[in-house]
Amino acid sequence: MSGQPLNLEGDIVELTRAICDIESVSGNEKELADAIESALSNYSHLEIIRDGDAIIARTNFGHASRVVIAGHIDTVPVAGNLPVKLLPMEREQVLWGRGTVDMKAGVAVQLKLAATLDKTNTDVTWIFYDHEEVDASLNGLGRISRNRPDLLDASFAVLCEPSYSQVEGGCNGTMRADIITRGLKAHSARAWMGKNAVHAAADILNRLETYETAEVEVDGLVYRESLNAVVIKGGIATNVIPDECTVTVNYRFAPSKSAAEAEAHIREVFEGHEVVITDSAEGARPGLDLPEAAAFVAATGSVPRPKYGWTDVARFSALGIPAVNFGPGDPNKAHSDDENVPVSQIFACEAALRTWLTAS
Ligand SMILES: [Zn+2]
Repeated sequence: MSGQPLNLEGDIVELTRAICDIESVSGNEKELADAIESALSNYSHLEIIRDGDAIIARTNFGHASRVVIAGHIDTVPVAGNLPVKLLPMEREQVLWGRGTVDMKAGVAVQLKLAATLDKTNTDVTWIFYDHEEVDASLNGLGRISRNRPDLLDASFAVLCEPSYSQVEGGCNGTMRADIITRGLKAHSARAWMGKNAVHAAADILNRLETYETAEVEVDGLVYRESLNAVVIKGGIATNVIPDECTVTVNYRFAPSKSAAEAEAHIREVFEGHEVVITDSAEGARPGLDLPEAAAFVAATGSVPRPKYGWTDVARFSALGIPAVNFGPGDPNKAHSDDENVPVSQIFACEAALRTWLTAS
């Protein structure tokens, strides 16, 4: 479909297929951003703003309230899974291939609703942004919040990230830390002259092995935490006693904890070892007690669940805007080589958002 204009008013599955087949691995979003911009420009009820490869389409119907509905248009690298295919799988039809779950089915729903809803019960800011799957400093939504914070202004935000077309509230925070052991270099023929830093790392691994994962209830949803070694580095040569070993750990922590509390926890778990925090992002509380969120849950007929992965809902939450994840697809399939979305979930997401935005 690449090269042809996108049909935003036709079959949602075909639209998903068309935007998946325009490859847009992070950094290569331009062609898809161009296609989205040109397709949305046909609709006079939308004001179109472009920031890099992010496209923002706003209604200006004059309502007192405004919501943001956002999705990223980039994907992780293709793994022999483009072009997408429509397959019968088990008992249902799925669309298979890169981007179908994370998150172009959600983007297709946004595009179709942006084009076809020329009357809604609130003003809507539709956001299609770049660079979500890479370093946070490149994130298109982050860039918009720096360049044009006014464009994110809203009383509620929905991210169409995969969540089985059910509400997934909030998200866990994430922190990375290096736990470092130090020893003394020596020739391995005279090992007693040195001190082996890799052996000393066993204590770190033992603490991780026996670590008991917490489940933390936040605003009625139960968040499961985790603490894991993700990288281990040590050793100089096969005849040298290593003098340094680094175990990189990733702590996924409940949204009720601040980054400072998460750091204190990591320092407590690895007490006696050198700890260097390398990266952190706080989570987002689900905020389902807020009226906007409660109305969304009711209108979409959802049973809310916690979101474990970090998503850009945390950016909205940091701006004081309650936000939920609501999009087609199984989040466990995101980034996998056999990424595929049941077409029934694409239809369900479209119908639920349409109902929410048009209910009187
Ligand atoms: Zn995503």
